[in-house]
Amino acid sequence: MTSTGVFHYQIDSRDCITAVDSAWLDFAAQNRAPELTRQSVIGRSIWSFFAGKEVRHLYGLILSTVRERHRRVVVPFRCDSPATRRFMELTVDDLGEGNLSLTATIIRKEPRSSVALFDISTRSSEEVVMICSWCKKIPVSHDQWVEVEDAVQALDLFITYPLPQLSHGMCPQCASEVAETMTRPSVVAGAASESSAPPDE
Ligand SMILES: [Zn+2]
Repeated sequence: MTSTGVFHYQIDSRDCITAVDSAWLDFAAQNRAPELTRQSVIGRSIWSFFAGKEVRHLYGLILSTVRERHRRVVVPFRCDSPATRRFMELTVDDLGEGNLSLTATIIRKEPRSSVALFDISTRSSEEVVMICSWCKKIPVSHDQWVEVEDAVQALDLFITYPLPQLSHGMCPQCASEVAETMTRPSVVAGAASESSAPPDE
């Protein structure tokens, strides 16, 4: 393997690719996408590269976290080739005005056996991970709900394939806040249902 193991690209506020480095293109060419050239990639939506609604959902949460809170988010993920497991890390930085910098780094590689892969897919395909519809937090234990990037780390969400399914629910804190709103004597029914709607939708 001749590439550096660090791949960089940038996207604009509409999630379209505005810059991509040579290492990224080399990596794509070595991994079943030799048709990807700089010309064909620039302007393309990153969502055309992600398959599966869970992957899209989690990446969407990560990108909005960086944009809304103007801070770096780092998440582990897997990008395997047929014979190699690649344990990678994605660093997303805020460039302002909705523009983001994304850097993928290969942390380590190990040979992949088809038996181990079969075990992983059998196990995780039936898993369901709850996500709070209101605050988008994910439970990592029975009483602890955390931000999506912390859940990705704690639960190895992008490490196990296929990803567990996401099930929408409500965390205890949002549940009690909504319940408190509903029981307030001055609140009429219409106002109560309005204030219990997801704030970011
Ligand atoms: Zn919540």
